[in-house]
Amino acid sequence: MEFSPNVARLEPSATLALAARARALKASGVSVVDLSAGEPKYRSPEFAARAGIEAIEAGKTGYPPTPGIPELREAIVSYLAETTAGSVATPAGVLVSAGVKQALFNCCYCLFGPGDEVLVPAPFWPSYTTIIELAGATPVLVDTTWESGFVADPDRLEAARTPRTRGLLLNSPGNPTGAVYDLYRLTDIVRWSGRHGIWVLSDEIYRRLSYGEAAPSLFDVPDLHTRTILLDGVSKAFCMPGWRIGYAVAGPDLVRRAADLQGQTTSGAVGPSQYAAAAALGRTEEREAFVRDLVARLRGLRDTGVAALSEIAALEVRAPAGALYFYARLRDPGRTSLDVAEALLQEQAVACVPGEPFGSPGHLRFNFAVEEAELEEGLGRIRAFFES
Ligand code: PMP
Repeated sequence: MEFSPNVARLEPSATLALAARARALKASGVSVVDLSAGEPKYRSPEFAARAGIEAIEAGKTGYPPTPGIPELREAIVSYLAETTAGSVATPAGVLVSAGVKQALFNCCYCLFGPGDEVLVPAPFWPSYTTIIELAGATPVLVDTTWESGFVADPDRLEAARTPRTRGLLLNSPGNPTGAVYDLYRLTDIVRWSGRHGIWVLSDEIYRRLSYGEAAPSLFDVPDLHTRTILLDGVSKAFCMPGWRIGYAVAGPDLVRRAADLQGQTTSGAVGPSQYAAAAALGRTEEREAFVRDLVARLRGLRDTGVAALSEIAALEVRAPAGALYFYARLRDPGRTSLDVAEALLQEQAVACVPGEPFGSPGHLRFNFAVEEAELEEGLGRIRAFFES
């Protein structure tokens, strides 16, 4: 079949594809331990879910305003003011979308086009490069190393900069590595981008999920320049991925243009989900209690997992500073990480994601945000796989 050039370079989502295969295997009766998905496998906060249900019961089911309902845009502004040092966001600078994915797509499509280059530190979340390509621009990978903790080095960014460089995608804590940029490094990079007129898109979807010191936000950077966009949502820290709510915070001009684009493609994000997200972000005490419990639970799972994986000679593993994943390095692969991930699924029915789609072959990503018993079972099978 002939498709248009619009989708000539479109790759299907590798992570979603693996999760779908694990689901299909499960449906055929195999007891699969699925550590492939990029989501916490827990229930959404009761108080937020209730707010969504109440919105439906109250008949709030008409078309929502394209950039988001006022309650949610205001809740996002106060959430950022409460959890970052220097937020100056206003509701007019907030665009609510169907997840960070759509918010990111809207911003990239509005800002970048043919001839533009956008820097992406690798390993990276695969949708970054695909979205940049859908906008017609060129992603330029800037490798980070295991030894430097997978944090981008400003010298390497500078070496990759050309007169065509228009943007930089940052993701801290990062998927798949869990790497956290400290405020010093973040400030350095943001200032460098400001000097060269480069847009910084800071994907902070895992910001609240950090296990040491709090992960800094773009809005903690002093004297922030105007070509900056903060992206966040409720999929991870609030366990609400299926509600599909994310947002971009940027200058009102960009938000208006991105809302125009959204208005011609999908319109406003799902209304009842917006009411649920407004409760999740807007009710400070319940929100913070939820995040505190989640982080404590995840820290425990992380520690259990790191201890178990460290005993497997074939793997090198470090405790991730944030996010939901172990990113293990294969010591002596002998075969590709894609082949290892396939074999692990076939032989031990454990689903994970190999490093290839993240731009770093030779690694395996395991989600640890699952039930403890499931993680324990998965760890046992992983060990059996590598030690057989
Ligand atoms: N950014 C990163 C780094 C992610 O890992 C994910 C989910 N895997 C997203 C964005 C997507 O978030 P959302 O559900 O809000 O679209």
